Amino acid sequence: MVRIGVDVGGTKIAYGLFDDGGVLLDRRKDATPIEADGPALSALILDGVRALIAANGVEERELRGIGIGMPSFLLYDEGYVCMTSAMVNVRDFPMRDWFARHIDVPVRIDKDSNLAALAELRYGAGRGSRNMIYMAVSTGIGCGLVLNGDVFRGSYGWAGEAGHMLITPDEGLECGCRNRGCFMSWASGRYIPQQLRIMGKGRRTVLDMNGALDGHALKQAVDAGDALALDFLDQMAHYIALCCFNVYLLLNVNLFVFGGGLTNLGPALFDRVRAEFDRYNHVPKPVDFRIAELKQDFGIIGAAELVKD
Ligand SMILES: [Zn+2]
Repeated sequence: MVRIGVDVGGTKIAYGLFDDGGVLLDRRKDATPIEADGPALSALILDGVRALIAANGVEERELRGIGIGMPSFLLYDEGYVCMTSAMVNVRDFPMRDWFARHIDVPVRIDKDSNLAALAELRYGAGRGSRNMIYMAVSTGIGCGLVLNGDVFRGSYGWAGEAGHMLITPDEGLECGCRNRGCFMSWASGRYIPQQLRIMGKGRRTVLDMNGALDGHALKQAVDAGDALALDFLDQMAHYIALCCFNVYLLLNVNLFVFGGGLTNLGPALFDRVRAEFDRYNHVPKPVDFRIAELKQDFGIIGAAELVKD
């Protein structure tokens, strides 16, 4: 028997075919149809799944299950997608029911950061831990919570949406969550260009303020010692550290594992996060900050774990 893990991201959909031992047998990628609605996205995923198993000579009856990670607010028990900020038309959609009508294989759907947490817990930086917070610092910021050895999803399924917790309510940029002043509007990839232009007004910088102000451009400017880029990094680190600190006080979990695209900023960002966290933390008990180990495959690994048994 084999399993499939599907990781739906803001730019690409990744598929992994795994055997029962957890070995990744083959993979596939599609571009994310950003304008698609729920049924159109699901049809594309199903085509991708069928193409992947066909390419490996696998029959549908040999599939133990399909796990899907979505960047969405969703009802975990029902597999129902309420809202997806990266794909605005994928909302109010009974996604698991759709799959049940189209393929006779168990399908489970979960929030992407829960699956990243599950993958890092079982195979990555969180191995052997009972409690762990996985924090994706990427296009957005989201957490997966592992409490007492298991993913904690909350009443509906979106426990860990710490990036949308408000830190400057009604002030700052409006986020996809429709509020102003959540953590991610200050410190995640989607808002770097707007925030950099605000902070950089009238300042000298090596950054091309009319160009692509992404994490890569920011990293180059940081490496060049650009004063604006370093100030910006301080601001990002401040908000990420506050987010971690508040979560730490709430749950008292002493292991944070950071993943996501902006981990490429490396110690320049995360040493600052550490220092800023320590500035607020006055109880001298260890709190461990680690970088995720599973690189780009955490999403498909975690999704396949959903249908392990
Ligand atoms: Zn938000």
